[in-house]
Amino acid sequence: MRSQAANGDIFESGLMPYDEALSRILAGVSPVLESERVPLERACGRILHTSVVSAINVPAHTNSGVDGYALHAADIAEDGSARLVIKDTALAGEKYSGTIGRGECLRIMTGAAVPEPLDTVVMQEHVELVDGCIKLNYRYKAGKNVRHVGEDIKAGETVMAAGRRLTPPDVGLLASVGVCEVEVRRRLKVAVASTGNEVNLPGRPLPAGGLYDSNRYSLMAALSRPDIEIIDLGILPDSVDALLKSFNEAGECADVIISSGGVSVGEADFTKMALRQSGQVDFWRVAIKPGRPLAYGRIGAAAFFGLPGNPVAVMVTFYFFVLPALEKMLGITDKPIIPTFKARSSEDLRKLPGRTEVQRAIISRDENGEWQVRTTGRQGSGMLSSMSRANAFIILDHDSDRVSAGEWVDVKPFSALF
Ligand code: AMP
Ligand code: MG
Repeated sequence: MRSQAANGDIFESGLMPYDEALSRILAGVSPVLESERVPLERACGRILHTSVVSAINVPAHTNSGVDGYALHAADIAEDGSARLVIKDTALAGEKYSGTIGRGECLRIMTGAAVPEPLDTVVMQEHVELVDGCIKLNYRYKAGKNVRHVGEDIKAGETVMAAGRRLTPPDVGLLASVGVCEVEVRRRLKVAVASTGNEVNLPGRPLPAGGLYDSNRYSLMAALSRPDIEIIDLGILPDSVDALLKSFNEAGECADVIISSGGVSVGEADFTKMALRQSGQVDFWRVAIKPGRPLAYGRIGAAAFFGLPGNPVAVMVTFYFFVLPALEKMLGITDKPIIPTFKARSSEDLRKLPGRTEVQRAIISRDENGEWQVRTTGRQGSGMLSSMSRANAFIILDHDSDRVSAGEWVDVKPFSALF
């Protein structure tokens, strides 16, 4: 059923809401549970399969946080004054085994163990050196500048939970507890194809009626991450046999197949015909703009995503449907929060209720330091430049209609995605 909306756009009823499409997709995929051991040097970006428990305390010994003098706090008078004999020196990496009595202190470097019963370190900048003694005139609290054993991590503590996509500080933290190898999920195998007789490889002259393949490149770029192995299926012609052969082969080795093009209602939608024959694939009309047509199902052992052909629609459907599914399959359960926040729209935005709209936009801060957002202009789903110039999506929800300049809208910065 179609009705003509006041502003001339066609509004279609019977579209599947975005949320419903996403939950159906997520319900249809499950985590790949196989794992492998990798050295810590290659662990960043991989998904931790087994939680890591620390075998040691960090720091492993009570040590000095500064270069200075370790002493008995009881030797400092109420007014902050003290005069103490420098008995010896302790360097980082050594365990000082002598004893420091009352009225004495120990020259100590940052990181060197503070021997008991010394309890406080005064910074070298706070003392004067006189005849082998330090003269202090500075109120110090007992315990100052001492880093206690286990204050960062305690032996037996879980330092990293399974399901976490490891970040650079995570890798450093694992090293700090002495771990040199981790058990991570095996990489997800994702096959990528472009379809269409008009689609050509860049780097060669463009034949009449042709265009260069951008979809496979943007998709493979988006999939270039340590936890994914890409299988490049190339450009497939508009031929049911060719598509069937390629998809069926991929269905035997890949976890996921992503194709673009051929899922709309055009005359040459061979992908559709091939998919009808090769697996359980449904064709959905999802209430999202851009990216309404979407094919989803299974071919062999692989989850199949047939994305639209238009280059912006490909990217939007990838980030809004495929990526959440990949994350579920990768077993990511503990990931840094991806912010969606509010920014003030600098312009009026037209929108029809009844579908989620994803516009390409630039966020910046206004003169008061508030977030503002403007679109990158014309939003044709074939215009990849509108997305390349953008740094964020504006997400307008299903039911909203127009947005007036000055209103707050949801934005998702690309930095959280790319
Ligand atoms: P389709 O759904 O196959 O009719 O494709 C929709 C539009 O996207 C058409 O204008 C196609 O030429 C274009 N298109 C399809 N595949 C690609 C691709 N790999 N790279 C760039 N544009 C494409
Ligand atoms: Mg096509």
